[in-house]
Amino acid sequence: MKQNNPTRLVIFVQIFDFMAIIITDECINCGACEPECPNNAIYEGGAEWKYADGTTLKGIITTLDGEEISADQEQEPVSMDVYYISHDKCTECVGFHDEPQCAAVCPVDCCVDDPDYRESEDELLAKKNFLHL
Ligand code: SF4
Ligand code: SF4
Repeated sequence: MKQNNPTRLVIFVQIFDFMAIIITDECINCGACEPECPNNAIYEGGAEWKYADGTTLKGIITTLDGEEISADQEQEPVSMDVYYISHDKCTECVGFHDEPQCAAVCPVDCCVDDPDYRESEDELLAKKNFLHL
């Protein structure tokens, strides 16, 4: 008789428990989510984002991907038309709140899980610690 492998089950849960949050085209640009983000990961369409915004990062930093850049360097907007979330700053609110605050306040429910971008809780906590020393 085939037996379950508990080790494989634990690994599966840890890897796929969290998905990044994205803002869909349904966004009505109300701006309600932006001040709720503990990482300043939400930007208006067309606005450049920076690691330094709303974090303790300054000067030359080494990102979690190993890239050396200035924390004040302006990064390409993810969307030109509607509010967007920088994956590099979103921790899905891990370390701050029990649930994503942007999704909690959005009046049209357009802050949703991104099935193509998944991070474990450990990775999200590491990102939170990177952004806020
Ligand atoms: Fe910010 Fe939390 Fe929304 Fe991520 S899930 S963008 S950290 S409010
Ligand atoms: Fe767009 Fe929702 Fe944020 Fe308003 S709260 S700007 S509709 S994502």
